[in-house]
Amino acid sequence: MKILLHMCCGPCSCYPVKKLREEGFEPIGFFFNPNIHPYQEWRQRLKTAREFAEKVGMEIHVVNHYGLREFLTKTFSVVEGLGDDDTINFADGFHNRCKICYAWRLGETAKFAAENNFEIFTSTLFYSIHQNHELMKKIAESVAKNFGVKFFYEDFRAGWDEGIAISKELELYRQNYCGCIFSEEERFSNDLKKIRRAKFKAQKKS
Ligand code: SF4
Repeated sequence: MKILLHMCCGPCSCYPVKKLREEGFEPIGFFFNPNIHPYQEWRQRLKTAREFAEKVGMEIHVVNHYGLREFLTKTFSVVEGLGDDDTINFADGFHNRCKICYAWRLGETAKFAAENNFEIFTSTLFYSIHQNHELMKKIAESVAKNFGVKFFYEDFRAGWDEGIAISKELELYRQNYCGCIFSEEERFSNDLKKIRRAKFKAQKKS
C-alpha cells in the first residue's frame, strides 16, 4: 500500500523509510518545509532529501518554494485552523511557532494526500527526539480528519540511533539545528543558552 511520507529532511527519513518498507508500505516522499532558513540551508536540505530518495529508490514530490516570508507572516499574524485556541497574535507568535509549523506542514501533507489519491500519510517528524511528539500527533490526527484521509502513527524515535547510522552510511548532509531562523539562534547563541539555564534554575527553586 502506498503511503505519503512527509520528509522534513534526508537524514530523518532514513529510519522511517526502512521501517515502513519492512511493514509492507510503499512510502512516497513529500518535501514541504517552509520553516527551513536561510535560503542556502533550505536548498541544501532539499538537495539531500532528493539525494536520499535517489539512493533508496523512492519517488519524491517536492514543493520547490523557499517559504521564509510566508513562515514569518504565519508565525506573527492571526492563524486559523488550529482548533479551539486558533487565534494567535503577534505577541504569542514566537512561542507558538512550533505549533504553527507542525500544523502547516502536516496540513499540507494531508491536503496533498487527499488531492493525489493517497489514503494514508505520515511524517518523518515522528522520528525526531527534539519535537513535541504528542502535540504533533494531535495535530496530524486533526488535519487527517479535516481532509478525509488517514494518519498512520508510529513512534519512529525507537530507531533514532539506527537512523543516524544509515544517514552516515549514505553520506548524507546532516544539519545541526531544527530549521527556522529562531531555532538556529537557539542552537548557537550563548546568550540564549545562559537565559535558558537561568530560567531552569529559577523554576527548580520555586
Ligand atoms: S523550531 Fe523547528 S519545529 Fe519549531 S518552528 Fe522552528 S523549524 Fe518549526
